[in-house]
Amino acid sequence: MGNLLRDNLRSDCGTKVRSPLEIILDRVYGVRQRQPGQYSACCSAHDDKGPSLSIREGTDGAVLIHCFAGCSPYEILASIGLELHDLFPPRDKPIGAPNRLSRLLTAGQALELLAEESILVAIAAANVGHGVTLGSQDTDRVIKAAGRINWIRHEATGGHHA
Ligand SMILES: [Zn+2]
Repeated sequence: MGNLLRDNLRSDCGTKVRSPLEIILDRVYGVRQRQPGQYSACCSAHDDKGPSLSIREGTDGAVLIHCFAGCSPYEILASIGLELHDLFPPRDKPIGAPNRLSRLLTAGQALELLAEESILVAIAAANVGHGVTLGSQDTDRVIKAAGRINWIRHEATGGHHA
């Protein structure tokens, strides 16, 4: 959906370096600054009436996003045409270098993201354990979560993308 935007961003060879925070604030609406490095905005991943989205810049320049309505970081990013690694400042290589690795998660960041998906899987597992049959929507969501956990694990343990 928003992939075109992202590809355009990538292809401009890093003439202008922008922080992950600037990139994200550019793409969300209803942005309000709460404190330095801390913003609220409307979530694009659901029909947001109030600013449900919390956007926070960490000391290392990485951005943490959280939707109080429960959208996952993936859903939020997908709705604004970004990917998980767009939350993290590039390291080791200058911006625009070819084959920039997307493996930019610190252990703490990976843990935070993993926690969100793990909770979902744990709830589903508890339901199944109590004999509750998951609906197709819930099942899809669990499968999605499993995929995300796998992906984060892959990124965090040094997976490389071709
Ligand atoms: Zn949301």
